[in-house]
Amino acid sequence: MADLLTFEQARQQLLEQLPTSINRPNEILSLTDADQRICAKEVISPINVPAFDNSAMDGYAVRLADLAQSMTLSVAGKAFAGQPFTGEWQALSAVRIMTGAMIPAGTDAVVMQEKVTVNPDGTVSFNELPKLGENIRRIGDDVKAGEVVLSAGAKLTAASLPLLASLGIEKVEVFPRLKVAIVSTGDELVPVGQPLQAGQIYDTNRFAVKLMLQRLNCEVLDFGILPDNEQQFEQAFRQAEQQADLVITSGGVSVGEADFTKNVIERLGTINFWKLLMKPGKPFAFGKLENAWFCGLPGNPVSAFVTFYQLVQPAIAKLSGFSQWQAPQQFTAVAATAMKKTPGRLDFQRGHYRVNAQGQIEVEPVRFQGSHMFSSFVQSNCFIVLEKDRGNVTAGETVTIEPFNFLLD
Ligand code: AMP
Ligand code: MG
Repeated sequence: MADLLTFEQARQQLLEQLPTSINRPNEILSLTDADQRICAKEVISPINVPAFDNSAMDGYAVRLADLAQSMTLSVAGKAFAGQPFTGEWQALSAVRIMTGAMIPAGTDAVVMQEKVTVNPDGTVSFNELPKLGENIRRIGDDVKAGEVVLSAGAKLTAASLPLLASLGIEKVEVFPRLKVAIVSTGDELVPVGQPLQAGQIYDTNRFAVKLMLQRLNCEVLDFGILPDNEQQFEQAFRQAEQQADLVITSGGVSVGEADFTKNVIERLGTINFWKLLMKPGKPFAFGKLENAWFCGLPGNPVSAFVTFYQLVQPAIAKLSGFSQWQAPQQFTAVAATAMKKTPGRLDFQRGHYRVNAQGQIEVEPVRFQGSHMFSSFVQSNCFIVLEKDRGNVTAGETVTIEPFNFLLD
């Protein structure tokens, strides 16, 4: 059956179909505005770092040839960081030097001051010969001029942006921010702040998705809550897809009588309605409308959240040009308790992992795993990823865990 896909197949298909960026001009931003954005052009260092040979220690710059003649030298002058030694460099002398100061021309090594005796007459004595180049930081040994320091598709972070600053680079070219429209569907939904009538529930999904999109640095276009009405769906989806690069809906993708998302999206574009062999999150829709891409999340909040995390997050990475995106890291852990699992679907159970007294990673599932039980996320810090064909897990077995990333911090 074409619409019964494994999670891995779904993620792969989605990533294959999406382009590596969207068709809008790049932006040129100052470093302080570029945090978390995606670098659009490789960055080449205009300079060597360090830009000159300099001292790694406070001490004395020496020539080995002088020390071969005498282990006591006079002091020719001083070199400070930012204030090079400009004096004359005579035979049998050393230069007092500070960390970061330019190495005086002709110097072979720096001897740290702790290893030097300063004599009452102002000369300095050494008790061992330094190695050639000792305590000298060489020009370009961190970054060489002309070297690629950042490739296109890298995320700009608190690690990479200071590196650019150290190269004197002021601005960086980044891909445009994705515009993402979000809609919740369902007659029963009420926005927070209003009292609930019989049969109504608060809209969790739009809020959860909005928060995660903000963390992914997307521009959010909030289309609110739609009642279960096919005309209204069509009108809203049309509007959303004209303004956004990606439209994300929740609810209305099952096969109930009020599930209109499928009909409407099929009129507006091409769509795959997937019944995924994953739990939670069986119904999931992915496709292309005239102007925007489309992801339809299931209505149950845990399912919406897990499918967003596991499928929409990589989709957003691809569309944002984040080519260095990697699937979340997984580790093995020991099951601290038994876990219920039916073979046939890949489970993303929620659990809590910790390092036990024996230094092993141990994981415990939260008690309630229902796809409507959002509280399960608050008590957990990882997914327990139970393979599709696996059955019940007994305590002590090895399982795979996936610690939550920054979307859930
Ligand atoms: P649906 O896919 O529309 O049939 O929804 C499946 C379940 O998820 C139903 O119990 C809905 O009430 C619930 N649901 C749908 N959308 C939301 C939402 N935005 N927030 C919380 N629950 C929702
Ligand atoms: Mg519904």
